Amino acid sequence: MDLIEIWKNRTKEDYTANKKFVAKLAKSKDKKLNALANDLHEEVFEEIDCLDCANCCKIIPPILNETDVKRAAKFLGLKPTVFKERYVRIDEDQDMVINNSPCPFLESDNKCEIYEARPKACREYPHTDNYEFLKHARLHLPNSEHCPAVFHILKRMKDVIS
Ligand code: SF4
Ligand code: SF4
Repeated sequence: MDLIEIWKNRTKEDYTANKKFVAKLAKSKDKKLNALANDLHEEVFEEIDCLDCANCCKIIPPILNETDVKRAAKFLGLKPTVFKERYVRIDEDQDMVINNSPCPFLESDNKCEIYEARPKACREYPHTDNYEFLKHARLHLPNSEHCPAVFHILKRMKDVIS
C-alpha cells in the first residue's frame, strides 16, 4: 500500500496517538527535532508525489499577502485589484484568502496554474521543513488529517524518538 492509501486508512487510534505526540512536541525546545523533521520531510516526499494528492489545494484556502497578490496578478496579466475581485475573499480572521475550495488555480491533473507565482503559504505548506517544524507544532495535528506527508512524518518521528 502506498503512503497516501495508508493515510486514507488511518484510524481513530492514529489520531489519538498523534494528538498526544503533538502536545508533547508543542512543549519541546529540542532544536534537534527540527533537523530530524527536515530529514523525515525529505524522506517522505521522496515517497509521496503531491500530484497524486493535491488535498491541500482542494480543501485549504491559502492565506495571501499583498506581495502574493501582486506576483500572481502579474503572472496572469491582471491588475492586482482585478485579481482580488476575482479570486480573493476576507476570512473570519480578517485574512485575505483564495475565495474557493478547491482552489480555482488547481488544474484537472493536480498541477497549479500559477505554480511559479503561487502564494508563500502554498510554498511553505506543510511547514515540516526549513527548521520550522517546532514553531508550527500545533498545526501538525490538523494538518495530519489533511496531508498524508504530515501524517507519515509524525509517524516516523514517533518511531525514532519513542
Ligand atoms: S496535502 Fe500534503 S502530500 Fe498532499 S499535495 Fe498537499 S503537501 Fe502534498
Ligand atoms: S495557488 Fe496553486 S498551490 Fe496554492 S492552493 Fe491554489 S492550486 Fe494549490
